[in-house]
Amino acid sequence: MPTFNPRAALRRALPALPEYAALEDTNELAARFGIKPEEIVKVDGNENPYGPSPKALEVLARVAYPVHQYGDADQKALRGALSAHLGVHADAIVCGAGSDELIEMLFRLFVEEGDRIVTASPTFGMYAFNAQVAAAEIVDVPLLADWQFDTEGLVDAALQSKITFIPRPNNPTGNEIPDSVIDRLIETGTLLVIDEAYIEFSQTPSLAQRAAETPGLIVLRTFSKWGGLAGLRIGYGVMHPETAMILMQTKDPYNVNAAAEAAALASLEDVETLDERACTLAGERDRLIEELGALGWVFPYPSDAVFILMRLEGITGRDLRDRLRQRGIFTRYMDSPRLQDHLRISIGLPEQNDRIMEAFRAIGQEIGRA
Ligand code: PMP
Repeated sequence: MPTFNPRAALRRALPALPEYAALEDTNELAARFGIKPEEIVKVDGNENPYGPSPKALEVLARVAYPVHQYGDADQKALRGALSAHLGVHADAIVCGAGSDELIEMLFRLFVEEGDRIVTASPTFGMYAFNAQVAAAEIVDVPLLADWQFDTEGLVDAALQSKITFIPRPNNPTGNEIPDSVIDRLIETGTLLVIDEAYIEFSQTPSLAQRAAETPGLIVLRTFSKWGGLAGLRIGYGVMHPETAMILMQTKDPYNVNAAAEAAALASLEDVETLDERACTLAGERDRLIEELGALGWVFPYPSDAVFILMRLEGITGRDLRDRLRQRGIFTRYMDSPRLQDHLRISIGLPEQNDRIMEAFRAIGQEIGRA
């Protein structure tokens, strides 16, 4: 009897299956290192250590009733609330299951097999991941020394490509592409996607309003970081209304789940609390940068985001990650050639950050750098 062979049936253009280095499971890690769940300091995922806003938590406790019905495919309530929040027309907004889904929608609509997309590494991995699934070519224009953007390299690459994806602030480096480079990229007449996942932790104004009136610019935003809703999967894009209409027409109709919608709406009624928390986290970030920098063997880069990338001397990123794990502190090591001696940590609650500093001091002693 013939049997279906899923690998043989794959699209011919699909090269080796891509893999995204997702976060390791926290419970599994805790069990492996013998750490009690309440003792874990989870600073590997750029999540919000405060969790959801009080109003979002309240509404989540009551959300059970409407979940037997499909939600509103037009996302009227959420797009309306976001319109007021951002000062852009609701027609310019499309919501999705995390900004990850918006990235996927853009690939589905605009990127064919063999098309090129531009990234500036090191950067967020989902652009390259989606490019691989789409059998597109990734033109990477690596960041220069001190993670500066290679303006001419990016413009040249964009001219031969469909879409350029840049987070601002960038993950994992924490710095921001300058406005002048953004202007140059928009002038290429190709599509620029500025991913503002961490914008609420930065002093830089959002480009959302500009995106609503600029066909060549899309801004991605998320409730995962500022809103503390990463596990609910809710994000959105702001774009020219014509592009938004295309996305609305072609998305999965009920792509935003009821709990995520309710929590996002409640978060938008709790902006002050969420902004205050973001402000505290930005202050903690600056404190950690200073205290880590004073250790002598850790060289944190400036950051506008809710995480810090640091270069290390006398220890590899992997070794430091492992030693921190043994102390219940879960961080993110990125196994790429330029980041072997680097580690990324997101910002915890103030008392968690104290524990992080204690652990760094103890490890400094262990490696003879105290
Ligand atoms: N963009 C960037 C730059 C990110 O770092 C992340 C999450 N790590 C995302 C997008 C994904 O966000 P979401 O949870 O909204 O899919």
